[in-house]
Amino acid sequence: MKEFTGKRVVILGSTGSIGESALKVARELGPDQMQVVGLAAGTRHEELAAQAKEFGVSDVCIYDESRRSALEELLPGGNVSAGAEGLMELATLANADMILVSIVGTAGLLPTLAAIEAGKDLAIASKEILVMAGEIVMTAAREKGVNVLPVDSEHNAIFQCLEGQRGDSISRLILTASGGPFRTWEKEKLAHVTLAQALKHPTWSMGQKITIDSATMFNKGLEMIEARWLFGVGMEKVDVIVHPQSIVHSMVEYLDGSVLAQLSTTDMCFPIQYAVTWPARCPTGLKPLDFAELAKLEFEAAREDAFPAVRLAREAGLAGGCLPAVLNAANEVAVDAFVRGQLGFTRIAEVVESTMERLASHQGQTLEEILAADTRARELAQEALAV
Ligand code: NAD
Ligand code: MG
Repeated sequence: MKEFTGKRVVILGSTGSIGESALKVARELGPDQMQVVGLAAGTRHEELAAQAKEFGVSDVCIYDESRRSALEELLPGGNVSAGAEGLMELATLANADMILVSIVGTAGLLPTLAAIEAGKDLAIASKEILVMAGEIVMTAAREKGVNVLPVDSEHNAIFQCLEGQRGDSISRLILTASGGPFRTWEKEKLAHVTLAQALKHPTWSMGQKITIDSATMFNKGLEMIEARWLFGVGMEKVDVIVHPQSIVHSMVEYLDGSVLAQLSTTDMCFPIQYAVTWPARCPTGLKPLDFAELAKLEFEAAREDAFPAVRLAREAGLAGGCLPAVLNAANEVAVDAFVRGQLGFTRIAEVVESTMERLASHQGQTLEEILAADTRARELAQEALAV
């Protein structure tokens, strides 16, 4: 029998935008290169069952415990788990080589740490995890010798630009940002932005939370902190440039002034596939770049006066400790309130800033301290909503 040389992958968050793209990659690569061996989702059990049937997966988890029996009925003979415990089971599944973490928010943190402990390679899309506990995750991964492959397109680009280079020769990581749907809007108009307007991203099709984060630029702020931990550089070496076409996914500037960039069309299947096949490169059915059709690539400075998120993230990243977790938690609460129509668009950054100010002296960097800061930040952000 031919030996299997591909990757056996568990997808946490399989019904989301990244999860669906990952399944598309699995179809494209075929079972010789990528086998899906476990699937987990939050609430949509019917979709999860359909995915499990298509890929012949028996280990599945539904986070919402109330849907467990309905899922069991759809998958007779399957090994169905539920809740946080189920996520842990899947993250440590014996026959998995790699865990793709694409759960929105922070529910993926403990499963990520469990996966590392079990020696599984990680493909991380959930940026909130690295913002909250990047140092803990990366240190644990180093100690266990597991690979952390970034799926976020900017970080996947930087990962590619760093290959074969020496870490001490980096002078800057330059994250590109599309600028979101309000890139050119006057600051005064931003207060009246509606949910529908914020959900219209100019270049990427993504889940709701990250789309709102792209509109406020908190997405880029989170990514700055994510980059700092993934690549082990100081916050002062992480820069942002607005690039409306989203073709250059990010760049690395080296000490000699040379800049390496990674380019492709805007499809998350590119970084997902590379995370799975790394260090190999495999053909894709994706659209290649046509430079003549593109004609031009533009770059401009981020408008920090209109979009305070980049400044706030820089401050949180420089302060370190619990402050990135505070920024992330307050942002989640504020975005949720904006989605429910309870908070104005520009108030999102105000809620984050006031929560950060109130918790500025909150010390600590252990997992327990970070989780406590996350909880406290959510309480204070809730209070700030009412002001
Ligand atoms: P999404 O909202 O489309 O999907 C989220 C997925 O997580 C769904 O499958 C949902 O069922 C699942 N989920 C939510 N809570 C869960 C829980 N407690 N347990 C198990 N599953 C749970 O989000 P998305 O756009 O796919 O983004 C996922 C993550 O990837 C986010 O952290 C986002 O920042 C990051 N990311 C997304 C993109 C993108 O293009 N969509 C790009 C870069 C990074
Ligand atoms: Mg990104």
